[in-house]
Amino acid sequence: MRLLTPFVNEPLTDFTREENYRKMKEALDHVRSQLGREYPLIIGGKEVYTREKIVSRNPSCHSESVGLVSRADRDLAQQAVEAAAKAFPAWKNVPPEARARCLLKAAAILRRRKFEFSAWIVLEAGKNWVEADADTAEAIDFLEFYAREMMRLAQPQPLTPYPGEENILEYLPLGVGVVIPPWNFPLAILVGTTAAPVVAGNTVVLKPASNTPVIAYKFMEVLREAGLPGGVVNYLPGSGGEVGDFLVGHPQVHFINFTGSKEVGLRINALAAQIAPGQKWLKRVIAEMGGKDAIIIDEECNLDEAIAGTLVSAFGFSGQKCSACSRLIVVGKVYQEVLDRLAAKVALLKVGPADEYGVDLGPVIDQASFNKIMQYVEIGRREGRLLVGGKGDDSRGYFIWPTVFADVPPGARIAQEEIFGPVLAVIPARDFDEALAIANDTEYGLTGGVYSSNRFHLEKARREFHVGNLYFNRKITGALVGVQPFGGFNMSGTNSKAGGGDYLKLFMQSKVVSERF
Ligand code: NAP
Repeated sequence: MRLLTPFVNEPLTDFTREENYRKMKEALDHVRSQLGREYPLIIGGKEVYTREKIVSRNPSCHSESVGLVSRADRDLAQQAVEAAAKAFPAWKNVPPEARARCLLKAAAILRRRKFEFSAWIVLEAGKNWVEADADTAEAIDFLEFYAREMMRLAQPQPLTPYPGEENILEYLPLGVGVVIPPWNFPLAILVGTTAAPVVAGNTVVLKPASNTPVIAYKFMEVLREAGLPGGVVNYLPGSGGEVGDFLVGHPQVHFINFTGSKEVGLRINALAAQIAPGQKWLKRVIAEMGGKDAIIIDEECNLDEAIAGTLVSAFGFSGQKCSACSRLIVVGKVYQEVLDRLAAKVALLKVGPADEYGVDLGPVIDQASFNKIMQYVEIGRREGRLLVGGKGDDSRGYFIWPTVFADVPPGARIAQEEIFGPVLAVIPARDFDEALAIANDTEYGLTGGVYSSNRFHLEKARREFHVGNLYFNRKITGALVGVQPFGGFNMSGTNSKAGGGDYLKLFMQSKVVSERF
């Protein structure tokens, strides 16, 4: 392990190169040839088929089934917790370097199957090629990064020397955990939230999001090939409401690693706080939740860069990112110019099936999201002035055109509630101070951005813009593992900082042994 190179981020794929374009086309054909297959649960390393199925659909073409995935009930959830508990004593005693090697091996397999995984993401989650490739690259990053983090934390930890004594601090795993990821980074977040507790020596029940269970199954194939013993990760697709509550409330569970909406996160937090009979510990809840993220465009800035950064931040993956820009706050006299230039650029964005190369916005994830976002579009028509977009078409896939509302009051629903779709509210501000006050005036605090060439304004934002990830003169999405550890404030969650040096400790407890000689 001494030969291990320092962590570097996985490079993104340049699809303008003929070779990469061809490989992605071939991967899409390959994955298409596998659509509609059946997938089992995996409990204690064994496959379990159920009669009840989750039908995973291609959001670009909802008549197309991506796969039929077995659906767990409470009995199977109980078996999964038991399997994880049974695997824990052996797994926690596997040396940390050996656990880390499983992650490094999984990263290598994923890298070899990179185009295939991106193709699954295109067809199951509706990401365009570039977004899908970034998702796969981030998954590889999490594996590589957390493997190195575990090796770092397994080293002797610095303590103040004390005469006549030996003192040693060691990090130990917690036990059985439940991992509940969302569908919007169907590979990256799934992989990151699973790999971290596992490399730390815990065993888990992984309940994937019901919209993207096939990608999760494909990752289970990778873990098996990487040599992870059965029972360390138990794959348990099922309804969040039915098996989710059961798993969270289970007395044998030590921690819940959740990423998703505020509503579900709060429910999990409350449920996990209740002590079940026989439970001897407090459950830890890691809950990374929603956002209502803002970009401020200052009077003095490079407007070309500001408009380009806003477009990518607001409409990448149709705005279905927790970090997406959903409020654009424009200071003073540049307001009208920003509106004109933004409207012209948004009108050029191409909407279409995610597997078509060059599409800017694919579909939104499902019918419920489509309906919810279109309702917000109607609310927006009353609360602001429709500048561009406003159209949806769910006849074949769940397509919504990028939509911008101007003159939105800061307290409007479309300026306060997470829409999670391609809808941007533009809010005018008199001056920079007012812009900052508007930016901070939601219950969330995940990402934020400022485009400005005024040093004093940037410094003020550095101090007062209350978000976990703040970006100056660049887009506010696409945090890189190791470079920008990610997690927000307030109702955006527990600030776990995924992809950072503090993350693994969330799944560990430290023990100090002191011996006097
Ligand atoms: P969601 O509806 O909250 O679902 C997330 C996960 O929770 C899914 O696996 C879901 O299962 C499960 N779930 C639902 N009800 C549950 C319950 N009662 N108990 C336990 N688990 C339950 O969120 P989503 O629509 O998948 O994802 C979008 C949300 O995630 C947005 O709010 C976004 O901002 C947030 N997000 C945050 C971050 C971050 O780092 N802060 C990153 C990405 C996304 P089912 O699929 O079966 O319902």
